[in-house]
Amino acid sequence: MGKKRINLLIVDDEEQFLGSISKSLELRDFNVIAVNRGEKAIEAAKKNAIDIALVDLKMPGISGEETLKRLKQEHQWMEVVILTGHGAIDSAVECTKSGAYSYLQKPCGLDELLETLQAAYKKKVMNKQQIEEKKMNELLNISISSSPREILRKLRDMDKEG
Ligand SMILES: [Mg+2]
Repeated sequence: MGKKRINLLIVDDEEQFLGSISKSLELRDFNVIAVNRGEKAIEAAKKNAIDIALVDLKMPGISGEETLKRLKQEHQWMEVVILTGHGAIDSAVECTKSGAYSYLQKPCGLDELLETLQAAYKKKVMNKQQIEEKKMNELLNISISSSPREILRKLRDMDKEG
């Protein structure tokens, strides 16, 4: 068995950039899903287990910031890295307040990109562990006072959320 590949969602309206960055990252053991609109990114994240999303800030349709918020809302442990062009650093910083892991300015070097993605992936793995630990602790608290049926129901709810 090979090592686990990181499932990466990339959304950018510049198709040429999208194509070249996807190719580079696929060669470096990422599973890439590339889309050109925020709406499509949200759909793709519903159908695939995404680890990290790389999101362009300026796009037609819903913005990168809105895409970020929706992704974080629906997939609590997913980490999102924002891509920004010149002159949009302020908005990119705002995005980190809305839950983005980090931001990168385009054009960014491959090494910098890889470093950021790997760090974001580590964070995602830790998030998932923490969330699961928290759920287990909650369950342990419930189990002191609840019936077996109640515990089973809670377990099913937790499984659905995950
Ligand atoms: Mg753009």
